[in-house]
Amino acid sequence: MLINTPSKKISIQTKEKTNKTHIFSGSYLCQPSSYQKKINITDDPYKKNHRFVFMHNGQCLASIDPDVILFFKVTDLKKEINSNNCIFLGEFNHDLIFAYELNKKESLSLEKIGTFFNLRILAINLSIEESNFAAKAAILIDWHKNNKFCSKCASKTKQNLHGQTRKCSNNKCEYQIFPKLNPAIIVLVMNKNHCLLGRQKNWPHKQFSTIAGFVEPAESIEDTVVREVFEETNIRVGSIKYHSSQPWPFPSSLMLGFTAVALSNKIKLNDNELEEAGWFSREDLASGLIKLPPKLSISRALINGWINDKY
Ligand SMILES: [Zn+2]
Repeated sequence: MLINTPSKKISIQTKEKTNKTHIFSGSYLCQPSSYQKKINITDDPYKKNHRFVFMHNGQCLASIDPDVILFFKVTDLKKEINSNNCIFLGEFNHDLIFAYELNKKESLSLEKIGTFFNLRILAINLSIEESNFAAKAAILIDWHKNNKFCSKCASKTKQNLHGQTRKCSNNKCEYQIFPKLNPAIIVLVMNKNHCLLGRQKNWPHKQFSTIAGFVEPAESIEDTVVREVFEETNIRVGSIKYHSSQPWPFPSSLMLGFTAVALSNKIKLNDNELEEAGWFSREDLASGLIKLPPKLSISRALINGWINDKY
């Protein structure tokens, strides 16, 4: 039998960057136990090569002037932290990066060294690698906060494997739970020289985006594309093609991007999820008639690809 052995090169990004590599995406090995032994993750947060992404209430600490600093030392906090709450995110440039959620008092003590930012704003100032660590910190911290009790026996759970999982504290149960992602599709629907965009009521004035929605149980992601576009706009689609994906840490989605071709063109807002939807030409988009989604989003990448005639 052939057994896979861990690669000697232990700090890698598992994919090449392409023009379909989006902010927040990336993969730094941190899960396999052999890897963990090799880099000797300790429970001592004061180790020289330990760095922290500090978060508070969904916001991420950073100093952005003049240089962007996202990874801090625990000594910057000037207070002891609970090593049981450190979440290992991966190795980066020979440092071990952890996430740590601060309480309000602790967060105030860091006002001199940085500001807590919403990730949507901060990510624009980060490298793609840093944005990945920030996204992973946000997703895992949110997941730990919301999984304090066992779903099988209701006992308390505790952090396990340096924060990669949680485990039930009841020794008759010991159920292990893994971080959960919510897959969602996002699709650019084309109809000859027009594309289909919609807007939700609570979005900024005049902002439109591609059609999106969560994958439901027992659906293929292609099924979701067909259902979501029909439910939201009454448009039937075919020729569905996968484009790329983007982690979306608000709080824990994975956006799966597609293009599709419209098989009908009469719009009707079937489920009222959208306030408005319409067909837009490239000229409409260039004219500033509507606001497009933020540059860091996969939605904007899908739209830009269509504007540049890539599909
Ligand atoms: Zn349990």
